[in-house]
Amino acid sequence: SAEIISGTQMRQEILAELEHEVKAMQEQHGTVPGLVTILVGENPASVSYVTLKVKTALSLGFHEVQDNQPEDISEQDLLALIEKYNNDPAIHGILVQLPLPKHINEDAVINAISPDKDVDGFHPVNLGKMVIGGDQVRYLPCTPAGIQEMIVRSGTETEGAEVVVVGRSNIVGKPISVMMGQKGPGANSTVTMVHTRTKDLAAHCQRADILIVAAGVPGLVKPEWIKPGATVIDVGVNRIGVSEETGKAILSGDVDFEAAKEIAGKITPVPGGVGPMTITMLMKNTVKSAWWHLQEKV
Ligand code: NAD
Repeated sequence: SAEIISGTQMRQEILAELEHEVKAMQEQHGTVPGLVTILVGENPASVSYVTLKVKTALSLGFHEVQDNQPEDISEQDLLALIEKYNNDPAIHGILVQLPLPKHINEDAVINAISPDKDVDGFHPVNLGKMVIGGDQVRYLPCTPAGIQEMIVRSGTETEGAEVVVVGRSNIVGKPISVMMGQKGPGANSTVTMVHTRTKDLAAHCQRADILIVAAGVPGLVKPEWIKPGATVIDVGVNRIGVSEETGKAILSGDVDFEAAKEIAGKITPVPGGVGPMTITMLMKNTVKSAWWHLQEKV
């Protein structure tokens, strides 16, 4: 049976490393990383994500500003708010929780965040630098960064490996495909990106030494699509029901986990896999930002 790659456990390790760095920064420079989380409205999923981000930031000793705005804030006012934080020297990372209400243009908001403080890694400047690679790379988008970190920390060989990515979204599939194909450690892979128009999904997946699935379709990847011994990273988070006992959502990934773990070499669970890594990478980006601001390297 496959080795389970636990995001929950890796999160603990990485947060311990970050906490250490924050202490060192405080001692050496008298400053700590600053993160503002901007939440518009009260979408329950967004509220829970932001709450977790705030809690994690505070546990690391960050300067944390929680800025909640009403659902009907105008785009102009939101852009002005972002500009205020762009100019605030105590803030190193600006996180605007997505999705935003329909009357606000999400692209305009992402583009308004200073690329220097774009710890989500969604700004076109940072995505462009990510594609160029090497020394240019600044903020990597958090979910792909978490996926790569899991692959590396689980001891999976990436050099020359066949990586198949299911999904081509801007936040997961597309960036992780680029990252795994870059030069350097934890990459150097041969990447195939597949999607809804792909002709033979099964045949592509069966070749994968590393299979990364970010489709948002429960049970999409069948056990017979998995190459024996492959590393399987299941990014999907699907609400497939509600627990009668707890009243909480029952989550499932895009892979049939129980069957897949009998074939794969290593596999991530849902929940407790990629999810915890995403917030962890947000914290890591914010610490990096604080160092870069100290060194004027952004
Ligand atoms: P998206 O809907 O933007 O993109 C899904 C992609 O999958 C599309 O490019 C589409 O072409 C492809 N796809 C969909 N159905 C397919 C099919 N039947 N066959 C082949 N390809 C198919 O979604 P997203 O934002 O990339 O998120 C994907 C999943 O990952 C969702 O379940 C989401 O909740 C989850 N997610 C998890 C995290 C995390 O931190 N764990 C972060 C982001 C997204």
